[in-house]
Order: sequence, then C-alpha cells, then structure tokens
Amino acid sequence: MTEQKKQALQAVKGMNDILPPESARWEWLEAKMRSVLQRYGYQNVRTPIVESTALFVRGIGEVTDIVEKEMYAFEDRADKHGQAEHLALRPEMTAGVVRAMTEHSFLRDSGRRLYYFGPMFRREKPQKGRYRQFHQMGVEALGFAGPDVDAEVILMGSRLLRELGLVEGDHFRLELNCLGSPAERRAHREALVAYLEQHKALLDEDSQRRMHTNPLRVLDTKNPALQDMANGAPRLLDFLGEDSLAHFNGVRAILDAAGVRYTINPRLVRGLDYYNLTVFEWITEKLGSQGTVCGGGRYDGLIEQLGGKAAPAVGFGMGIERMLLLLEEVGVAPAAPAPDVYAIVPSAAGLPQVMVALETLRAEGVTVLMHPGQSSMKSQFKKADASGARLALIFGEDELARGEVAIKALRDADQPQMTRALAEAASWAPELLNA
Ligand code: ATP
Ligand code: MG
Repeated sequence: MTEQKKQALQAVKGMNDILPPESARWEWLEAKMRSVLQRYGYQNVRTPIVESTALFVRGIGEVTDIVEKEMYAFEDRADKHGQAEHLALRPEMTAGVVRAMTEHSFLRDSGRRLYYFGPMFRREKPQKGRYRQFHQMGVEALGFAGPDVDAEVILMGSRLLRELGLVEGDHFRLELNCLGSPAERRAHREALVAYLEQHKALLDEDSQRRMHTNPLRVLDTKNPALQDMANGAPRLLDFLGEDSLAHFNGVRAILDAAGVRYTINPRLVRGLDYYNLTVFEWITEKLGSQGTVCGGGRYDGLIEQLGGKAAPAVGFGMGIERMLLLLEEVGVAPAAPAPDVYAIVPSAAGLPQVMVALETLRAEGVTVLMHPGQSSMKSQFKKADASGARLALIFGEDELARGEVAIKALRDADQPQMTRALAEAASWAPELLNA
C-alpha cells in the first residue's frame, strides 16, 4: 500500500450541503411558508423522489428542456427475468402528485388542496440560483375548475412574499398570461409557425429546432437579437375564445379587488407542456437571469393525460434557494436562533443531578444548551457568551452541595446574580423564558 492519504470525497457538482447557520434560515423560511399554507387549508403531501421515467415524459412533455436534456434518468438493475425499470429523479413535483392522487383515488369524492416541500433534480449548468439538486415549495389544487382557485393560489403566493417582508414593485413583480384551450393554442400555433417561417433566417439554432416542436417556447427566448421578432409575433391572447377570456377576466377581477398588482405578459408560456388557461410567474430583478422565484398555472388536461379520470387543476412551484438568495439580497434575515440558557458545569461529579434539572427545564419549554465535557470556568463562560444565550446557569460544586443553581444574566451587567433550588426547577422555569 502506498503512504498516500485517502482523498476526501466531495458532494456532486451542483448539489449543495445545507449547513448551520444557513440551515436555520431554511427552517425559518419553511415555517413562514407552512403558516401561510395552513391558513388556506392546504394539506401536506409527500411522494417518492424516484418515479418511472415515463411519468415525466408523459407529464412534462417530450420536447421540453427538462425531458430533453435536464433529467437524471437511468435504468435500474435487471430483476430475475432480465427486466429493468426506467427510473428518474423527479425534476418537478406536479406529475408525481397527480400520479399519487390517481393511484389512491383521492379525487373521487371531492377536490384536494395540497402542498409539498422537497428536493428536485435537473442536470443544468450550475450557477448562482441554479443547481442540480434544488428545493421547491409548491401547491396543487386538484379538482377545481373555476377562476376562484387560480386566484386563491396567486393570493397565497402574494401573501407569502409580503409576509416575508418583500415589497411588490421594489423586490418582485407578478406576471400573468392566459394560454387558452388546446384548440385555441392549435389555431395560434399555425399562425405562429407561419410567422416564424417568414423569419427563419433570423432564428438561432435552438429556435430553429423548436419552431416545429414547441414554437411557443421560441417566443420565450432570452436571445436579445430575437426580441423584436418575438414582439411582433401573433399573440395567443388574440386567439382566445369567450370561455377562456371569461376565465381570465374572472381571475383578474379577484386580483384587482384584492389589490394584487400584476402585468399581463402575452409571451409568458412556462417551460412545461401541461399548462392551459392561467399561467403566472413571480419575478425579481435582483437575481439576474435566475429571476423567476415562483411559477405556476392551470393544467386541466394533465390528470387525464396521466391515466386518471379527467379533472381540472392549478398549482405553482417556488424555488427555496432563489427565495433565500432574494431575501438575503434585500436584507431580510431571521433573528439568529439562540438558546434561552447556557448550562455551565465545572465538575463531572454532579452531572446526573444537573442533567435531570435541565430535563425539567426543557419539559417546561426552556431552550437549554449544556456545556459538553468539562473545561475551565473561563472557557465555559466564553462559550456561553458566544451561544447568544441570555442567561447562564452555573452548577458550581458549592451550589450543587446546597441543592441550588446560580443564574447569571449574560446580556445585562446590572442584573444581580440569583440562586434557585434545583428541586423546584419546574416552578421557576417560566422566569427563564421571560428574562
Ligand atoms: P428557469 O426558467 O429559471 O429555468 P423554470 O421555468 O425551469 O425556471 P419551474 O420548472 O417553473 O422553473 O420551477 C419552479 C421554480 O423552481 C422556479 O421558478 C425556480 O424558482 C425554481 N427552480 C427551477 N429550476 C431550478 C434550478 N435548477 N435551481 C434552483 N431553482 C430552480
Ligand atoms: Mg429551467
């Protein structure tokens, strides 16, 4: 064997560890999100990270970026009959939720309002705000056809952004569009392809390829040279019939009444094939080309397309990493979490007695960080200070011999030290919370 040291292993490119203190920001954001979701009566759903590749190909669409080039798909090991399953890491959650609802007949009697949190996987070029494993919070409202539920999910997203301290106009804006029905899209598509044919010479390689497979996506191009061409293209909005317009106006009337501001972007199409009628995105200018923090829309055809009984649905997905980047960018930060008390234990002799007392405090709701192992009083006080705790509990030998603990304020030099009886910890625990 060589003397060479074993090389340390590293996380996969584009996949991040989320470590303290950063992880506390994640927990804070997730708690804020849950609080809003619960006020709208949405229920949590958790589905597997791995699904059949076919689910995403059928759900998201064969000619989308996600399925064409971003999906982590692989063949599982063969079973004893030599059959291997084609599996994929989920690139998004909607297809999985729809599969689960159908599989468990959850839409038989009524609609469902659901939310999820979790990792998604896309093999994209990693950069700030774009990762190969990223996380989404999302909602899916299944079995509801009316514009009221479109408006509800938009109001919910909007409330969340505002409750996080973000300001509409300064930090984010909402874009809205209506994609109409499949028939309206077909009529528009014909006109659009004809228009793109006329401008073929202008189109870049990507757009030429998409012109026939997914022409709406050509209009979504980020290539600055194509903006004029895209601006002059036939607008889907002009192809909408009465029903689609009524739906769109229904959503708008509710948003207008609620004071939710939006701009109509006739070119907003979203990167997944399954949308119809309402689509929307929350966009920020603070994160460069990773500016979409949340996107969603209606997908009335997807449930049937995935083999379920036809039912309408609407939802959105919000990128957790992008939300955290945006919050950081504009200076919104949660209070650093700190324990109520830090327990200083100079000698091992009294440990059983000390730790029983600490358990009593925790049972009463006190957050207690105990000094691990023994070290000098000086170094324990240093750690107590660094922990951010408001109080130190000092379990000195003299105090323990009297069945007591000394309590010292760490942030207020004027407050005198106190002593309390260990046997009565439950009765004075509330003092520690309000100190
Ligand atoms: P983009 O246009 O930026 O690639 P998208 O349209 O592919 O976004 P969706 O599929 O709608 O994104 O996903 C919903 C949200 O998830 C996005 O608005 C974004 O906040 C987040 N998201 C998508 N892909 C990534 C990624 N690779 N890394 C981090 N967040 C992502
Ligand atoms: Mg994308």
